[in-house]
Amino acid sequence: MSTNKPTSLTTRIIIGMVAGIVLGQILQLLMPDGSDLVIPLIFADLSLRGFFVDGLFNVGGEIFVASLRMLVVPLVFVSLICGTCSLKDTTKLGRIGGKTITLYLLTTAIAITFAMTIALLVGPGEGVNMAANTTFASREAPSLAQVFIQMFPSNPFAAFAEGNMLQVIVFALLFGIAMALSGEAGQRIAKLFEDLNAVIMRLVTILMNLAPYGVFCLMATLFTDLSLNTFGNLIVYFLVVLFVLLTHAFVTYPIILKVLTGLNPLIFLKKMRTTALFAFSTASSNATIPVTLESATKKMGVNNSIASFTVPLGATINMDGTAIMQGVATVFIAQVFNVDLTLSDYLMVILTATLASIGTAGVPGVGLIMLAMVLDQVGLPVEGIGLIIGVDRLLDMTRSAVNVTGDTMVTIVVGKKENQFNEEIFLDENAGKDIEEIDFHHLKD
Ligand code: ASP
Repeated sequence: MSTNKPTSLTTRIIIGMVAGIVLGQILQLLMPDGSDLVIPLIFADLSLRGFFVDGLFNVGGEIFVASLRMLVVPLVFVSLICGTCSLKDTTKLGRIGGKTITLYLLTTAIAITFAMTIALLVGPGEGVNMAANTTFASREAPSLAQVFIQMFPSNPFAAFAEGNMLQVIVFALLFGIAMALSGEAGQRIAKLFEDLNAVIMRLVTILMNLAPYGVFCLMATLFTDLSLNTFGNLIVYFLVVLFVLLTHAFVTYPIILKVLTGLNPLIFLKKMRTTALFAFSTASSNATIPVTLESATKKMGVNNSIASFTVPLGATINMDGTAIMQGVATVFIAQVFNVDLTLSDYLMVILTATLASIGTAGVPGVGLIMLAMVLDQVGLPVEGIGLIIGVDRLLDMTRSAVNVTGDTMVTIVVGKKENQFNEEIFLDENAGKDIEEIDFHHLKD
């Protein structure tokens, strides 16, 4: 007997992901160490690697991520303007900003302190003797003054073109405030922006519906070449990072949410699944912004006036998962190189990791670049990064999922505190389901 109940988007994405992983592993067995398998066909030879891995899957995966990223700047700009405009009292912005940034910094500090404590207790680098085989160029951590100055775009179009999220946020906020203060002229433009917002959100929906295929391609490409042999000495490091990441997501966030809002954390975690899967498979909280925003408003019930500000801001300045990796990695590298860090060094790590995350967009692998700044600050050899790079991809995926979970949790807290939160939507299991089931036939009408 067949039922007409459509499979949920989360299930479809998981199916795409598992199928991609399994196929990738089969291809790896057929083509170990990056080799190729050529199948002679009647007309021509078929290169498995060339046609599928570097061809079809690579193209599919890249197009999927590029399409998500394509929406980030227009969506943030338009939805933030709508959000700012709809705030009856724009002076509230300062208070909302204050609460959001405080919570973001606080959760990051908790994350990195917890990570370093566990790493010191377990000692993942003790007795490990490894030679770094990769060099890594370090960059200086920006000073607080620089961070503030660089938030203001001298050319907004350059900010759009570079995807500089903080600058886009600042410009959109100022533009939105000016619109709210411009009487009828502002109201006319506001209508246009609201319509634009609806259309861009529709585009997000369409893309989300294609995600199972995109995720399949990404996983198949990645797992064809992901070698688990690199784990060796790094297995303890890997497990410590993973343990802290999962504890932060499944224990710390639920506790903070419960204490600050009284909401049921299980509902929150359940509704987080689709967004976390997007972040996991793209390894980018930045590319996931459209999905995080859609889910924060339509599934969790936070008003767009809050979410349009907190979500893109979070994707840029709030990276708890990344901070966790940096905390464990610093301890690990110090132990491998037999360097004793003092308490003030550890405080320096917390400060630099938090500062480095401000203004660094959440894209794949950026955590390692930020780690270079942290290591530099406490005088540890930056080449140490070469030790952990081999197992970083899987951790990158996991910490991106944690990053977006943190952004959403803070968004809910701020939304609730500001009375810009609809609890009925939060409690409704089916809220936002319509965005997951788009009927593509309507596109033809
Ligand atoms: N990929 C992470 C993110 O987008 C950042 C990182 O830790 O590398 O959130």
